[in-house]
Amino acid sequence: MAYVINDSCISCGACASECPVSAINQGDAQYEINDSSCIDCGNCANVCPVGAPVQG
Ligand code: SF4
Ligand code: SF4
Repeated sequence: MAYVINDSCISCGACASECPVSAINQGDAQYEINDSSCIDCGNCANVCPVGAPVQG
């Protein structure tokens, strides 16, 4: 199950550089996870200052 970024994201960008498979990209409103690439490692959740990435 891929992680998803909820609407508390403040678009700081910290998660994108920590993703080992480059699954996180800046979307129109906030950062977004490509659910077909995400390997469920949890790095994004660990570095996010607001707890926006959650298991989907
Ligand atoms: Fe990338 Fe891991 Fe977050 Fe999935 S859980 S988006 S693989 S950092
Ligand atoms: Fe959004 Fe958290 Fe990623 Fe920053 S680290 S872009 S707040 S999901």
